[in-house]
Amino acid sequence: MSSPTTPPIISRLAPTPSGYLHLGNAVNFVLTWLLTRRAGGTLHLRIDDLDRQRLRPAYLDNIFQTIEWLGLDYDHGPSGPADFEANFSQLHHLKEYQQLLNELRQVPGLLYACRCSRTDIQRAGGHHPDTACQAQRLPLDTPETAWRAHVPNGLAIKFQDQWQQQTAVPLAADMGDFVVRKKDGVAAYQIASVVDDVRLGTTLVVRGLDLLPSTAAQLWLAGHAENTAAFLRVQFAHHALLPGADGEKLSKSTQASAQRGIMAEAGSPRVVYAVVARLLGLPEAAGKSLAALQAAVSVNS
Ligand SMILES: [Zn+2]
Repeated sequence: MSSPTTPPIISRLAPTPSGYLHLGNAVNFVLTWLLTRRAGGTLHLRIDDLDRQRLRPAYLDNIFQTIEWLGLDYDHGPSGPADFEANFSQLHHLKEYQQLLNELRQVPGLLYACRCSRTDIQRAGGHHPDTACQAQRLPLDTPETAWRAHVPNGLAIKFQDQWQQQTAVPLAADMGDFVVRKKDGVAAYQIASVVDDVRLGTTLVVRGLDLLPSTAAQLWLAGHAENTAAFLRVQFAHHALLPGADGEKLSKSTQASAQRGIMAEAGSPRVVYAVVARLLGLPEAAGKSLAALQAAVSVNS
C-alpha cells in the first residue's frame, strides 16, 4: 500500500473520558487499528480531556481497559492514567490552542463574541440564533463571552472520503455558527482536535459518520490558518456506527452500554469484532477474532 509517493499512515484513537466507551467507540478503535496496521503505519492514543468537568477517573481507566480488552496496541501515547495526566493531558497544550485562536481572530469577520446562554441556544433549536450577537461586534476580549466562528449561509464543505467517496457536508445547516472558545476562555473541541492532529502529524482519521459535521468544521477552520495547513491533507474514513441487522440485535446492550460501557455489557470482544466484520462486508468467520479480522482485511486490501 505504501510507496515512495504516499505519505506514511499516522492515525490515532481519540476517545473522550466523559463516559464509559460504548460499542461505537470500540468499533471505531478496531477499524482505526486495522487500517493503520495494514498500512504499516503509526498509531497514537490521543485522549480528548479538555472538557474536564465531565471527566471521571473511572472513565479514564475504562479507556485503557477497553483498548487492552480489544487486544489492540498503539505506538505512542500515555501508558495509563497517571502517565496521561502527567504528560499527555490537553491541559499541557492550552497555549498551542490559543495560538490558533489568535491566528483565526485576525481573519476579518470570522470570529465574534457571543453572550448567549445554553438556554438561548436550546430555545433556538440547538443552533446559534440569528440574534444581535454578531451585529453587536462586542470586543472578543469581553468577559463572559464565548467566541463563535461565523459559518456563511449555505456553506458546504466538500472532501474525498475513503468510504463515503465525495462528500459534501452542509456546515451552515448542520452546525450553524459554532463555538471555538468557551466562556471560560478555553479552546473548544474543534480547535483542540485540529491542533492535536497537526502536532501528531496525523494523516488518517477514522471516525463515525456522526462526526461528519465536526470534520467539515475542522477542515473549514484549518483552511483559515497557516499553521494548520497540513490538516487539509488528512485522509478521512467515516464509518457507520453499527450495521443495520446487528444494530437491531445489539440495540438493547448498546443502550445499556451507554451507562456501563461495552466491556461490561458484551462480555467478549468478539461482539465488537463481529460488528466490524459486518461493517467491512467480510465473511462472518472474519469476526471470530482480531487475528482473523486482520487476515481478512489484508486479503481484501
Ligand atoms: Zn450569541
